[in-house]
Amino acid sequence: MGQKKKRSLKGIRIKNANFAMIVISCILYVLLITATIRASNRYKDVQEAMDTYIACEECNLLLTLGSSYLTEQVRLYTVTTDTGYMENYFTEVHVTKNRENAVKKLEVHYHNDKIYGILSDALESSNALMVDEIYAMRLVAQAQGEDADSLPEEVRNVQLSEEDLALSKEDMLEKARDLVFGSKYQDSKEEISSHVEYFMDSIQNDTNQRMINSANNLSSTMAQQRVLVSILFVESIITFIMIILLIVKPLQVYVNCIREDKMMEITGSYEFKYLALTYNDIYEVNATNEAMLRYQAEHDPLTGLINRGAFDQLKSIFRAKNKPLGLLIIDVDKFKLVNDGYGHEMGDQVLKWVAKLLEESFRATDYPARIGGDEFAVIMANVYEDQRFIIEAKIANINETLQNPSKGMPKVSLSVGGAFSKDGFTDDLYHKADLALYDVKEHGRCGCRFYDENQEYSEIKKS
Ligand code: GH3
Ligand code: MG
Repeated sequence: MGQKKKRSLKGIRIKNANFAMIVISCILYVLLITATIRASNRYKDVQEAMDTYIACEECNLLLTLGSSYLTEQVRLYTVTTDTGYMENYFTEVHVTKNRENAVKKLEVHYHNDKIYGILSDALESSNALMVDEIYAMRLVAQAQGEDADSLPEEVRNVQLSEEDLALSKEDMLEKARDLVFGSKYQDSKEEISSHVEYFMDSIQNDTNQRMINSANNLSSTMAQQRVLVSILFVESIITFIMIILLIVKPLQVYVNCIREDKMMEITGSYEFKYLALTYNDIYEVNATNEAMLRYQAEHDPLTGLINRGAFDQLKSIFRAKNKPLGLLIIDVDKFKLVNDGYGHEMGDQVLKWVAKLLEESFRATDYPARIGGDEFAVIMANVYEDQRFIIEAKIANINETLQNPSKGMPKVSLSVGGAFSKDGFTDDLYHKADLALYDVKEHGRCGCRFYDENQEYSEIKKS
């Protein structure tokens, strides 16, 4: 029966639940790690955009600085005619090269052609301005009568127009100053400035766009992370609930069942349910065995009546109760003759018959017992001495039946001695009933007598 129940047993298996949780955890972990990597990449994008912006700003600064420096040096030369300024000018052009460096640096940092083109345009405009600047310097050098060989190559190679060569020294200087201070020069400078401004605006817009894209990506990745962390949290809670429902609670229930020595409730995971069913099967078998053993320990195997040991225990119980009771001691008359005449087996049948008659004749609250070979006893609860006639009548009835046997049974009779007590099973009760029994034996057997305080009994007959 247990096997059938186990076969149809349903429930969540801890093994499967555990495997599912591990798989879900691994998947969530991989997704979370991926989202974290994506988030850190988005963060890098933001940082890169910022770095590029800073680098571009530096390039812009370098270019502006270089261009302004050239303007400043050429102007100082035309005003002071100090050749040191011309040297400074060409040092910037050939050695320091702030403007070229700015464009080169931008090329490294920035790959957006459009924006790169804006700064190169600014450099080209600056280079175009240099033509006028070098011409102005040539004019100053001419006016000052500088040795052509001492001049920088670019200045030396400039061919002054016929018109300019015809100018006086002052006019030459005037023209040179006009070239680097005049409105045309100023317009070109402004054109460079507008290139630079446009460049900075473009950089700003581009950086802004990159930052917005990265921020959007970052925020969607963070949202994914939040969802994944929430799922992970829910999964942990489900795991805890499952542990409680499938393992902890059933364990508590089972421990209580074991403590209270009762069958287990079928609860928890499949494994626990299986365990409980197995325990219950064993529990049932044990309980049946225990009941059987107890019955065997307390009952006489031949007659089924309670045996001597159980009778002695009953004596102790009734001794403690202090209530009125009656005791009968019953012995089969001349039983040896039955054994001798009809055989031991027939003797057994007679004993069983006597036991059956005793059980049928007395109340359910009375205790018939087999206390020896052919000796029986009956403890009668809540019986007073004035009910002796009822008991005598019962014994007379039994003897009547035994004297008129059927189905080939031998004729037998019972000798019965009885005694009453008002205070439970007193120490001398058995002895009194025994004296009464032997009194019956002495006076012809087949009868029932109760112990009488006023009668003298022969102690020699005591068993
Ligand atoms: P009395 O009238 O004086 O009692 O005579 P009695 O022959 O009955 O003598 P007693 O009571 O002393 O004998 C009891 C006999 O019961 C002795 C024994 O052989 C027999 N006996 C004891 N136990 C069993 C049993 O289990 N089965 C059978 N068949 N006989 C038993
Ligand atoms: Mg006998």
